[in-house]
This record gives sequence, C-alpha cells and structure tokens, in this order.
Amino acid sequence: MKKLSLYIHIPFCVRKCHYCDFLSAPPRENEKKEYVEALCGEIRREAAAFGEYSVDTIFFGGGTPSLLEQEELEKVMKALQDGFIIEETAEITMEANPGTVDRKKLEGYRRLGINRLSIGLQSANDEELKELGRIHGWETFLTTWKAVRECGFTNVNIDLMSALPGQTIESYTDTLKKILALEPEHISAYSLIIEEGTDFFDRFGPGKAEEDRLPSEEADRTMYALTGKLLQEAGYSRYEISNYSRPGRECRHNLGYWTGKEYLGLGLGASSLVGHTRFSRETNLETYLQAAMAGESTVVWQQDLSSRDQMEEFMFLGLRCTKGISAKEFRKRFSADISAVYGKQLHKLKSKGLITVDETGQIVLTSLGLDVSNQVFVEFLK
Ligand code: SF4
Repeated sequence: MKKLSLYIHIPFCVRKCHYCDFLSAPPRENEKKEYVEALCGEIRREAAAFGEYSVDTIFFGGGTPSLLEQEELEKVMKALQDGFIIEETAEITMEANPGTVDRKKLEGYRRLGINRLSIGLQSANDEELKELGRIHGWETFLTTWKAVRECGFTNVNIDLMSALPGQTIESYTDTLKKILALEPEHISAYSLIIEEGTDFFDRFGPGKAEEDRLPSEEADRTMYALTGKLLQEAGYSRYEISNYSRPGRECRHNLGYWTGKEYLGLGLGASSLVGHTRFSRETNLETYLQAAMAGESTVVWQQDLSSRDQMEEFMFLGLRCTKGISAKEFRKRFSADISAVYGKQLHKLKSKGLITVDETGQIVLTSLGLDVSNQVFVEFLK
C-alpha cells in the first residue's frame, strides 16, 4: 500500500499574535462547530479516493488546534478513522499552545491516539512573550508542560523563536537553557521573519519607527549559532535546518514534506501533494464553509508538476535535511544522472564550500551551507 500523510488545519486562535501571518483568527460564535461539521464532511468525501493508501502520519496544525473541544476533536478523529486506513503505529501530532490544554483535555488526546504534541512556546522570557502578543507567560507554559508529562506524552516538540524585538544574546541563552532543562524530545528553532500584513510589519518592518529594536544581523547570527551549539552539546541532533531531536524522535510528518512524500491537506487553506500534483484549498473561511457544507470541492489552486519541477523540489527540499540527498535516489526517481542535470550548480556550490559530495554520491550541506541555505536553494530554481 502507498503511504499517505494527512494535515488537518484548524484555523482558530484565542487572539492574533502580533507577528503572525498564518491562516488563523479568533472564532466567532458557533464558528468552531460549523467548521468541524464542514471539515468532517470534507474528510469523508475526500477519503473515498485514497483506498489504496495507508496513513502513517497525521498532523493537526493551525491556528491552535488545541482550542477544539473534546467532542469536536472526537468527531474529526472519527471521520478520519471511518474514511482512511490509519496505521496502528501512525505518528499523530497535535499543535497546542500553553494555557489551552489541561489534564482532562490531554487525557482525551491520549484516548484518541494522539501520541505527539508540538507546543508553541517561542520564548521563556515574559517580556518577549508579551511583545509577541502570545496569550501565555513562562509560568503558564510550565503548568502545561507538567500536565503534558504527567499525562504520559513522551514525544513532545517545543517551538522557539530568535531575533525577537528587544531580545539579547543573554535572554536567548537563558531561554535555551530553560528549555534544555526540561528535556523535550524535539526542538524547532526559527528566526523571526517580519511578514507583511502583520502588526510587527507596521512597527518593525523596513524603515519603520521601531526597526532598530530588532537584534542586529550579527546578533541574529550569534543566536542561530548558539542554538546549534547548545542543543548539540545537550545531545540533540540537527536533522533539518531549524529542527533538532533526540535520536529516533525526528518529526516523521515533516520529514515527509522534505522528502517528497504524498500528503493530503484538509481544512481551510490546506495544501496537498498527491501523485505529481500540488493543490490547495480556499482560504476565505466563509467561502470555505459554504463550499464544504454544500459537498463541493474546496480546491482553488492546482499545479501538475513537470519532471523538472519535481527535480527542483527533490533538490531544495532534500537538502534541507542534514542527511542530504542521494545521487542514486535521483537516478531511481527521474531516470537521469544528477550531474547531467545539475552538474554545473553542484560544482559551483562545492567550490564555494557550501556542499560536500561523498564517494557514494550523497550530497549534503556543509555547516556554511546550512548557514546560507537560501543561497544554495536558489541555484536549483529555474
Ligand atoms: S498562536 Fe500561532 S497561529 Fe495563532 S495567532 Fe499566534 S502565531 Fe498565529
């Protein structure tokens, strides 16, 4: 049977964080209920085309999926179980924000088979959390963390961010140390990106009044290097540019994205890759609800990937992983020699010290390549 990953988007949050450009907003009255109904309908309809697949990872993302009530989540899980063949050992991840789950909810998750949590902490510093517009402080996170462990979750990610307004090397180091003391199985660490259309863009964007409150480029780089150093010293291995884990605790779902595995996204704005087609769904909640409730497709964009597109994705997604890509696998997938297609680019990157190629044809980013990965990826775009 072919393998499939499922992504389920839950677009609700308690309130909007100041830096956030994800598809999420506080729910209006009854909106969650309507959404769950529409989503379950979509799951059941779409599942019919996937009888030849078994699902080995499910990811509830958002938004804040932990805002769903237990009965709402039960309905979604039931629709998934009715529609898809879900493997017994499937990795089932739920994103949860501190303060939105308690023991009762967490026990409910375990009963439903959720076996991995991803907690959006971002910083251990209350001032920084307030600046970000997060709904929680460090103490709230600790209460959530205690409950998570007491309820027996042994595969947990903590999300962190660096290069925050007002953040210093010292405060970031303190955050890293506090997190490491908790020994999570997985840590995702990203630099803040100031996205257009967010409150942060109006305050900290190019030429805006508070731009100078962002750490300098040099401080940003120092924080980035510190992440790698402290986490690796503590026994985490970096398996992707921004992701670190204990051995065997890599996020299987995300690894699928980077290795070209098929996935089906369900819910508002969700993206999919099925066969050689990428497609994504309606991003306007009202339009989405109307279409899904009427039993219509919510797909609004679709692209059939040419063989060249697939090669590009193979290169720049695969190189995100520290394991890199294999020339043998390239040949197997595309019946072409990697050096015949990308020889020039590989030679250039190698001579700049950004990649290495070993005798088996395994191509990996060097530590310099990891630092300037965008410069590497751009080489493989048409
Ligand atoms: S909790 Fe996450 S998805 Fe929700 S507003 Fe904040 S950053 Fe965005």
